Amino acid sequence: MINLRCPSRIEIDDIVLIIGEKYNPHKTTLLGLKTKILERYSKYIELELNGRIKPIKFSINEKNALASLYSSRTKTAKLLFDEVINVLNPNHSDCCLYCGIGEIDQIDHYLPQEHFPEFSILHKNLIPICGTCNEIKGSNIPGINGKDYLHLIYDILPIENIFDCAISFIDKVPSISYTILPKFKNSVLNTHFSELRLKERIEKKSVQYCLQIKALKEQFGSPYAKEELTRDFNKLSAFFGIYYWKTKLISTMINIDFVDNVN
Ligand SMILES: [Zn+2]
Repeated sequence: MINLRCPSRIEIDDIVLIIGEKYNPHKTTLLGLKTKILERYSKYIELELNGRIKPIKFSINEKNALASLYSSRTKTAKLLFDEVINVLNPNHSDCCLYCGIGEIDQIDHYLPQEHFPEFSILHKNLIPICGTCNEIKGSNIPGINGKDYLHLIYDILPIENIFDCAISFIDKVPSISYTILPKFKNSVLNTHFSELRLKERIEKKSVQYCLQIKALKEQFGSPYAKEELTRDFNKLSAFFGIYYWKTKLISTMINIDFVDNVN
């Protein structure tokens, strides 16, 4: 989970320009929808105030026209998609904003395109994420049917410990458990964490990392493995902060003398 800076683009201009540039069978439909789209854009801000937006009805023809904006290759659309990536912090530009584990290879529509086609090219609705998160989230609507996800622009992550990380050894194999702290149990953060199956995904990645460190100890000795932990800790805490899952993992490993205790 990594926050995203608010885009500086003038999104109303984007949509007006893209419709203007676009020459295809949907152009008349899109021109007819322009006022409605702009009204919906001004409603999107309600998400910032923890509000919810309900889908509105569009005909099949209108839905197709709106979806075609996303797949359009107009000059403005291209600039917009470049900026979705450029706005990322260069220190974590390849790390999925939803999970903080996988690499970015897709763009998620926070309010899914299937239900909110009018936001198909609204910059604030486009979140660069990994394929696994995108597949799990699918076209679920945030805030409906118990599903909910952080909006990484509006939901500012707390600058404090979010979860506990515990390491134990079962038959010499490290076992890792992350638990969200009780104070966050009723928050969107907790729902995001469980809906995207982050507990199991982060735990799996953490075990892999522990095994890497164990292998380093076996190959190069304990001092080298400990230095590697310190190097990784310094790098990750500088890039992602001390509350990021992997930084938290490494600090726990250091606290329990993982290198000395793993066999
Ligand atoms: Zn992800």
